[in-house]
Amino acid sequence: MYRCISCDKTWTHPVKKCIFCGGGIQCEIPGTMTVTGFTEVFIHSVNNEKVPYFVLLLEDELGNRYLKKTFENYSIGESFDPHEEKTSSPVFGVIGTGLLGLQICEFLITKGYSTVVKTRDGHTNHKTLSKIDDKLSRNYSPNAVTEILKKISVTTSFSDLSGCDFIIEAAPENIGVKEEIFKALSGICDKKTIFSTNSSSLSIDQLAGVTDRPDRFIGIHFFNPVKRMDLVEVVVGEKTSHETKNRVISELVDMGKKPIVVKDSPGYVVNRLLLPQINEAITLLEEGVATKEDIDNAMKLGLHHPMGPFQLADYIGLDICLSILEVLYHENKTGGKKARRSPLPAIQ
Ligand code: NAD
Repeated sequence: MYRCISCDKTWTHPVKKCIFCGGGIQCEIPGTMTVTGFTEVFIHSVNNEKVPYFVLLLEDELGNRYLKKTFENYSIGESFDPHEEKTSSPVFGVIGTGLLGLQICEFLITKGYSTVVKTRDGHTNHKTLSKIDDKLSRNYSPNAVTEILKKISVTTSFSDLSGCDFIIEAAPENIGVKEEIFKALSGICDKKTIFSTNSSSLSIDQLAGVTDRPDRFIGIHFFNPVKRMDLVEVVVGEKTSHETKNRVISELVDMGKKPIVVKDSPGYVVNRLLLPQINEAITLLEEGVATKEDIDNAMKLGLHHPMGPFQLADYIGLDICLSILEVLYHENKTGGKKARRSPLPAIQ
């Protein structure tokens, strides 16, 4: 039974927030139930992949009926233990409270997902919460902000992420830093937890290789700003299981995102196309072909890009741009020489 904590209305199927008063939902878990019906449903991802899931019709001992979404295939008459499910929606763990980490947290909690965010030691919980509070206050009333913030908890300890359904790592674009994080999470997290990285370019297979669950490791690459950009690159490694990929796609579609599936390859799709262009813009500037303002104007006015390459590079962060270019260069993608970083020391 799903009950609104504000107005006490109830539902027998999962709802994220009360449709009458907008209040939060509490899940009251009944005892073991019996599967009395099911249907198979398909979600189409934007690259036209059909992702299957099941909707079960369940009945408890009192004859109350419930609907449940699942990736598991059940048959009629089988029993179903709802205690395996703690809430109607999954719990996310986010690692890193930089540009993308905070945006991902803000996006998840406004969509109603409980989120545990891990900061580095020495970063105060108060500081993280007040940054998210500031961002939310630009769009929501003080009461709504208070409600939304109930969905987030901040920690400096990996062990507080142990019960999460999904981990999204958004630490700096550095393979060593990310490997250390995933090594620490392996062995701490529940065996069902899906690990993901928001990396812009790094190898999913290499990161999966340091974990105890390469089949439940995947790239979930959000774009900046997370709440406005529909695209998410779902980056599939050699050992990523179909179930992991399907669960991630289904959850992203539920959130309103438009995922595309990408094979593990340096820079994936967007950054493999974008970073050589940013690099070439820097080379044009270095050669004195045009000013940086005119290079930006060329792409805005000539190709209808909302931002020119210099403006976009600043927006992404020059450290991240450099890390991606180095990955492309060392992995010899886009012809090696083309991806070699421009020798220009700084954008003037
Ligand atoms: P950032 O430097 O702003 O943030 C990184 C954060 O990670 C910092 O707050 C840092 O304190 C924290 N951190 C470092 N080590 C940590 C640890 N061991 N545990 C917890 N936190 C730790 O970087 P960003 O721009 O937010 O990028 C993060 C990731 O997202 C990168 O992989 C990047 O490629 C990717 N990404 C960035 C963009 C963008 O536009 N900047 C877009 C998409 C994806």
